[in-house]
Amino acid sequence: MEDNSSSGDTITFLGTAGARFVVTKQFLASGGLWLSLGGIEILVDPGPGCIVQSTKRKLRAEKLSAIILSHRHLDHSADTNIMVEAMTEGGFKQRGWLFAPADALGSEPVIFSYLRNSLAGIEILQEGKSYQIGNISFTTPIRHIHSVETYGMIFTTADHTFSYIADSRYFDGLCHSYGGELLIINVVLLETKPQIDHLSLTDAEHIITALKPKVAILTHFGMGMWRAKPWEIAQRLSQETGVKVLAARDGMKFELSQLNNP
Ligand SMILES: [Zn+2]
Repeated sequence: MEDNSSSGDTITFLGTAGARFVVTKQFLASGGLWLSLGGIEILVDPGPGCIVQSTKRKLRAEKLSAIILSHRHLDHSADTNIMVEAMTEGGFKQRGWLFAPADALGSEPVIFSYLRNSLAGIEILQEGKSYQIGNISFTTPIRHIHSVETYGMIFTTADHTFSYIADSRYFDGLCHSYGGELLIINVVLLETKPQIDHLSLTDAEHIITALKPKVAILTHFGMGMWRAKPWEIAQRLSQETGVKVLAARDGMKFELSQLNNP
């Protein structure tokens, strides 16, 4: 039996799909990130299939302390309702927190009204704010440039600090706002497309070079990125940036202890 509480701090990639076609065809899974940090379980961006990807890996939603949405786009939020239902044991146990930007909870909310009362509470993400989940804290340092309200996060555990740069158009604020030993970065585009509010490979290389984490993990791949073999791209980026760059794979579990000797 897998015991997630005693195996150290881990991040499980329940999906690596980024753009619309990769998600709608399920060429790659799209379930988000499952964080297991000092016995605290946190789910980030439960996209389509999160319930399937998490149960398949025996990750137990009833142990979740919180679900965090970077933004309301479907590939980050589609399974919010079912994951809230699972976290609250069918709505019978009032527990767990939902963190989301204001526009994910407004006139067209990502969560059904009948499920809201089963949560311990809802917190609205705002630029520059810090939040606490047990002994884990996270901040949402800067609002991203994306078609809906979007934030990345910097997580601080007892032993480690890591950043997650969610969807955004490139702007210099990304290089000034994030940091930590590990950087998880959503790289949808192989080539920069100015009309699309997503990071390209060139943007990611620039950000990794500026932030110099111990390890960077590329994820959230569009079709072009996927066809270009992200694991080969990661190898090249490692050589060019001097940072250990990995490409996430569906189901990959990254142990934060790896940051001690990258
Ligand atoms: Zn998006």
